[in-house]
Amino acid sequence: MKLVSRSEWGAAAPTGSYSRITSTRGVKIHYEGSPVPGGLLGDHGQCAGHVRDIQRAHLNDPNEDWIDIAYSFVVCPHGYVHEGRGLGRRNGANGNPALNAGHYAVCAMVGTSGITSPTGAMLDGLVDAIEYCRAQGGAGGEVRGHRDGYATTCPGDELYGWIQRGAPRPSGGGGGGEPPQPSGQGAGTYTVQPGETLSGLAGRFETSVTQLVTLNGIADPDVIQAGQQLQVPAPPFPGREHFVLGAHSPYAKQLQTWLQAAGWGPPYRVGPSEDMESLDLRKVAALQEYYVGDLGPADGLTGPLTWLYAYQTAHGLRGR
Ligand SMILES: [Zn+2]
Ligand SMILES: [Zn+2]
Repeated sequence: MKLVSRSEWGAAAPTGSYSRITSTRGVKIHYEGSPVPGGLLGDHGQCAGHVRDIQRAHLNDPNEDWIDIAYSFVVCPHGYVHEGRGLGRRNGANGNPALNAGHYAVCAMVGTSGITSPTGAMLDGLVDAIEYCRAQGGAGGEVRGHRDGYATTCPGDELYGWIQRGAPRPSGGGGGGEPPQPSGQGAGTYTVQPGETLSGLAGRFETSVTQLVTLNGIADPDVIQAGQQLQVPAPPFPGREHFVLGAHSPYAKQLQTWLQAAGWGPPYRVGPSEDMESLDLRKVAALQEYYVGDLGPADGLTGPLTWLYAYQTAHGLRGR
């Protein structure tokens, strides 16, 4: 990892004392959400100055009581990881003290103009920072976006899509996403029925034709034959917070649609909705009860494996 310490980038001293933390559930990814000078792209020599600008802006923010740069780390387009508040200290960027204690905050130098997309080196630097937080800062396996659990567009659609794909390194090497948890790949095998096309299957399985082609190595996307076995990926798990009682999001409706399709638990009177209600938790518990060896205890709470099983049972990808 290319770590740039506070003294190396010329940090000002904090104006107050930090709250100490010993562990977090993981890392949240941010972007700047404001113009980021495009001139940084060709000149790493300017990156330290840009981090100093961020710190100065945070210290002078009239709406926040920040004692320092709010982020734990800031990653530049060249993949250097600049130490913000660093490890073992609560950040100020995730939205409130509980969210700040829950995840480290790693910011990419991406914004609304100038640099608007992450570079490959930047994505590598983000994964370096995530791994560093885990190895030495007590961070758990979660990789989330600022928008998870807080009303913001941060970290922008492009970085958020990358997180949803498991925060992979551009080289395809080990990703920053939750290590052993099942997500995108290998959700199940599907046998092609007569008359089915790849694009039709992509819609049915809520995946993309590109993903299906990549997984199965098919040269021409539309040439598939009845009887052929396809590997079908599952949508990435969006995070446990979307499935607790009272949560509201499109993910809730997606999960409920699968539970309904597979017939778990008591039937809906109206149908799936974007709200997690007690009936939804009973349906989840019914699924968990059936596969109690894998998914138990049947507490009705949805983690990555329950999400995967709900998807698989709704699409005939898992035996029962
Ligand atoms: Zn943010
Ligand atoms: Zn740089």
